[in-house]
Amino acid sequence: MSESVFIGVDVGATKILVGAVRQTGNIISSRRFKMEHETRAITLHSIHNALEVFMQAWDGPAPRAIGIGLVGQIDPETGTWLEAMNLPIKSPVPLAGQVRDRFGIPVALDNDVHAATMAELHWGIGTESKDFLYLNIGTGVSAGLVFGGQLLRGSKNYAGELGHMVVQSDGELCPCGRRGCLEPIVSGGGMLARVKKELPNHPDSILHSFGKTLTTHQIFKAADAGDPLAGKISNDAIDSLGTALVNLVNLLNPEWIVYGGGTLSDGWLIDHVRENVETGPLTMIRKSLKGIIPSRLNPEQVGLLGAACLALDIGGIK
Ligand SMILES: [Zn+2]
Repeated sequence: MSESVFIGVDVGATKILVGAVRQTGNIISSRRFKMEHETRAITLHSIHNALEVFMQAWDGPAPRAIGIGLVGQIDPETGTWLEAMNLPIKSPVPLAGQVRDRFGIPVALDNDVHAATMAELHWGIGTESKDFLYLNIGTGVSAGLVFGGQLLRGSKNYAGELGHMVVQSDGELCPCGRRGCLEPIVSGGGMLARVKKELPNHPDSILHSFGKTLTTHQIFKAADAGDPLAGKISNDAIDSLGTALVNLVNLLNPEWIVYGGGTLSDGWLIDHVRENVETGPLTMIRKSLKGIIPSRLNPEQVGLLGAACLALDIGGIK
């Protein structure tokens, strides 16, 4: 029997990555396209065109299915892209049906976080554990919850909105309308926004010297060097993330927490919450937590691998 090949399409707000992936998680070839998104029609054309160009050039075995990982809200049952905050998709698009009609093979859709979690399940920590949390902190905060080897979706596919867990009753105002959500305190975007707001009150902070190039890695380094503003921003992030993770571990009893995302990539924030998360939960629960570890999947590829996983599930291979 010839090898099975699946097409993954990782759709972000600025780029589209299309690739052909083996059942083993090996990427045979991939190509990056620019996401043009001035209007709804242009956005959809960008996706269809990227797939068309890739498939025209593909000369390997016939793909079994196509998986598409998207930003925004998805109904995976009907293959509908419901809406996206960062793209001009404000009403539902029956994307899976459109792509299936064009290429004549099964098509699956889901959001990018679920897709990345599926990649962990198939080719990452899921090869040795059925019960884990996937935590991603970059511009925002997201989490995928896997229990009994299944992604926890909730009733309408929205489970895992960790960024809006309330961790401070009088905290920062979140775009969702509540105060004290996790995301504005621990995400890269949230920390940078807090620094920008607070800098005028800290004329001596070394964070002034970075200007627009400031990153969370520099905030953490400045905190280590004793900068009071960087210390406050970092300590709030440590306290809030620790609280959220202890709550999650107590609630869900995972075996592993696996993490990715730009804000966690230097390990600083995780190293500072590790002790709290490993000692904070109830005794019997913390004893079954084996560790908090970085994802072994390449961060540049996890979106594409995740999209291919969606295809793997719908293409008859688990
Ligand atoms: Zn919120």
